[in-house]
Amino acid sequence: MQSGSEIIVIGGGVIGLATAIELRLLGAEVTILCQSFKAAAGHAAAGMLAPQAEQIPAGAMLDLCLASRDLYPKWVQKIESISGVDAGYWQSGILAPRYTDEQGSDWLDTRSIHDRQAGLGESVVGGYWHPADGQVDNRALMRSLLIASQSLGVKFQDGVEVTTIHRSQGRVTHLETSQGEMSAQHYILATGAWSQQLLPLPIVPRKGQMLSVLVPSDRRDNLPLRQVLFGEEIYIVPRQDGRIIIGATSEYVGFAAHNTLQGVDRLMTNAIRLFPSLRDFPIHETWWGFRPATPDELPILGASNDANLTLATGHYRNGILLAPITAKLIADLVWHQQADNLLSSFSWQRFELI
Ligand SMILES: Cc1cc2nc3c(=O)[nH]c(=O)nc-3n(C[C@H](O)[C@H](O)[C@H](O)COP(=O)(O)OP(=O)(O)OC[C@H]3O[C@@H](n4cnc5c(N)ncnc54)[C@H](O)[C@@H]3O)c2cc1C
Repeated sequence: MQSGSEIIVIGGGVIGLATAIELRLLGAEVTILCQSFKAAAGHAAAGMLAPQAEQIPAGAMLDLCLASRDLYPKWVQKIESISGVDAGYWQSGILAPRYTDEQGSDWLDTRSIHDRQAGLGESVVGGYWHPADGQVDNRALMRSLLIASQSLGVKFQDGVEVTTIHRSQGRVTHLETSQGEMSAQHYILATGAWSQQLLPLPIVPRKGQMLSVLVPSDRRDNLPLRQVLFGEEIYIVPRQDGRIIIGATSEYVGFAAHNTLQGVDRLMTNAIRLFPSLRDFPIHETWWGFRPATPDELPILGASNDANLTLATGHYRNGILLAPITAKLIADLVWHQQADNLLSSFSWQRFELI
């Protein structure tokens, strides 16, 4: 495409924003249409950058995740230098405690894991240490991305819902939106868990409930946790400002809003078992969000059935981690027509939809 070409990104979550910025830096005129910036899963996430703690098996997805984790420090620096807003990137490492013995060459035995982290629950018998994994403060990242995009001249239209993608002869002709018709030369779908409302893609919302507690103010100078704990059915993510994020449930309940007592109860019980001193920490917030889940839990990236519509969705539980690599691969594809080999495993065609 040529400098000044117009691109509409549908969806202004972490993926839409990151991709819009990359394309703008290449010279595109970019508009983001976003039904609700506030509702984006990008705000609800824990912000873990955890390909190893997640135990993603060797293959294309692990390659994609590791490539994105490698891009993170420089990418965050770039976004921060454009926006002036710190995104809270922290290569804190991730400790993965276990309640059952697993053994193996990188296994930390009971003594080693309790030495590495004081205050773990008594039933922790060992675990794994992933020093290259880390975290970003995803809410700060969302602010940083929004401000960066706007200061680069991306038009971010919040509160605009795309209701229909009109297509004819293998091309998108225009969009029907809550504010009337809109058109561009190219379109990018980055609508996360809501994608099925626009295209027949197999993406459903997987709800996650979360809560946070605060380290008591007299202990802020010496935080009790300085690494993420990735336990069994629970993770505990300490932020440098004294918040501790606890997550998450994983529920197929459609777009059901709100926290539930059962959801929060499960988070609290599992978190206290893993790190008992949390029981005295004040609760700060509870919230929920919707992961865009595909049947094989891999994202949907790249070309669609329409020549001028590119897909960047379905990032399920790793969209914060995958934002830099998604933005890069999609921008290269759209702008330079260069399809990186990494993309081939993430085509929508693997689902054989019509
Ligand atoms: C509880 C929870 C914990 C998570 N933890 C992590 C984690 O630790 N690490 C990690 O890497 N990932 C994590 N994730 C996953 C990550 O948040 C998502 O994969 C990521 O946010 C997806 O980004 P997205 O931009 O595709 O979607 P979103 O961030 O959800 O943004 C989609 C946007 O599109 C807009 N939109 C939808 N439909 C339309 C339409 N028709 N017209 C206009 N706009 C539309 C929406 O309003 C929304 O703003 C977590 C998710 C949840 C819910």
